[in-house]
Amino acid sequence: MRDNGDSVSPPALSEATAKGIEPDPPDDRSRVSPPLAVGTGPVGNRGRVSYSSVLVESSAGPALNPNFVLKDGVAAVDIPAELLEDSEPLWKCCLVGYFMNEAPHIGTIHATVNRIWGQPGRKSRIDVQFIGKTTVLFRIEDAGTRSRVLSRKFWHISEVPLMVGVWTPEVRWSKLIWFPQRVPRYAFITWLAIRDRLATGHRTRQWGHVQWCVYCGEPDETRDHLFFACPYTFTLWLQVVGNLFGSDPDPDWEITLQSMLLGSYDRLTSILLRLALQTSVYFIWRERNDRRHNGTGKTVDQLARLIDKSIRNRITATNYRSNQKLYGLMQIWFSAHL
Ligand SMILES: [Zn+2]
Repeated sequence: MRDNGDSVSPPALSEATAKGIEPDPPDDRSRVSPPLAVGTGPVGNRGRVSYSSVLVESSAGPALNPNFVLKDGVAAVDIPAELLEDSEPLWKCCLVGYFMNEAPHIGTIHATVNRIWGQPGRKSRIDVQFIGKTTVLFRIEDAGTRSRVLSRKFWHISEVPLMVGVWTPEVRWSKLIWFPQRVPRYAFITWLAIRDRLATGHRTRQWGHVQWCVYCGEPDETRDHLFFACPYTFTLWLQVVGNLFGSDPDPDWEITLQSMLLGSYDRLTSILLRLALQTSVYFIWRERNDRRHNGTGKTVDQLARLIDKSIRNRITATNYRSNQKLYGLMQIWFSAHL
């Protein structure tokens, strides 16, 4: 017999349990407040009130049914998008600032922006928060002040050039992810990395699952360590990216993304930089998982060759020879690796 999809506690089982298969005496709390009894009561109460049925009964709609995923023994749950959509007010009054050099001390930034942007006689203050080594968030409640700061775009704080832009957490790096020549599965892993949603050791530790860096043994396996602060992955990144940047690559994740986004690269170089980033992130993550599960490991050179081959395959697949807009793509890739 099938009921409305609740396979955990079908009516037949509940009935059998109530008839005496379950020896525990009835728990009054479970009658008065089923959700509490389910959360805290003994396993024996399972027959009377199933966890899933409580969730279904007390839910406002299907969107609130949590979707648990068990991967590598680690449980993850998706938060319904509806819950996150209302978060806009939290960041809509924020502007993001990129320092073009080493950032001044936060106290200096705070004092300076409140002096040059703040309005005399007004109480509303500007909050400053670092979100990267050279990236800061400015929280400016006054809309007039925000548009005045934005309209000039370039500022100086303690003589360090600062570029200010609109802060939108989801789309800030979207140009690095969505471009026609991307490989979808590489783009997806990179998108997760950008949102810091890959299950790195740093993130799984809160679920009691400890994971050190499989490449170098660093105890805190963070996103920023993997891309590309780790000695292994940075050596790899140097080989993969060659001299596409036109300057020495930086091991810092935020700086890497920032220079790809803000640097003045021609169209083809920009495509190759994004391909190099996405392919590297994908292969580093895959190799990391291979090492964890199979105990085997590739050398930097082996992995670099795989990545290089994958990128060249992708370039070939774009038909760059007959596409005027992409003509020269392979040539630039080769000359960046001489
Ligand atoms: Zn490492």
